[in-house]
Amino acid sequence: MHKIIQPDLDPPFKVGYALYYPPKRVQNFWDSVKKEDRCWVWQRGLNRTGYGQFCVFGSNIYAHRFSYSLHFGPIPDGMVICHKCDNPSCVRPEHLFLGTYSDNTQDAVQKGRWIQSRNFLKENFHRPVLIAA
Ligand SMILES: [Zn+2]
Repeated sequence: MHKIIQPDLDPPFKVGYALYYPPKRVQNFWDSVKKEDRCWVWQRGLNRTGYGQFCVFGSNIYAHRFSYSLHFGPIPDGMVICHKCDNPSCVRPEHLFLGTYSDNTQDAVQKGRWIQSRNFLKENFHRPVLIAA
């Protein structure tokens, strides 16, 4: 079992988990990110809900999930990665935290950004998702 590490590291980040991914692909990932003052914004494909998408090992994954797993390790099954900054295209590790679907939903309801999306990724089919404010 891996340990869940809270995202409170200061840069430069530990990149031990990057070894799980081809280094070129990781480089390619960071080449697609624009580091702004506050958020690190994904510059390539976004899905219709505003989340960045990135292809690794032949499958499309969320850019923020990739970033999270690079810095903090594998994401446990059934868990979601939430944004402290409410910016779905942000991949800055300190802005990401591990949550459950219901955390994410409550967060969205509280922030008035709740919608029902029917078709963003197969694994999330019919699940509620956050959208950009
Ligand atoms: Zn952010």
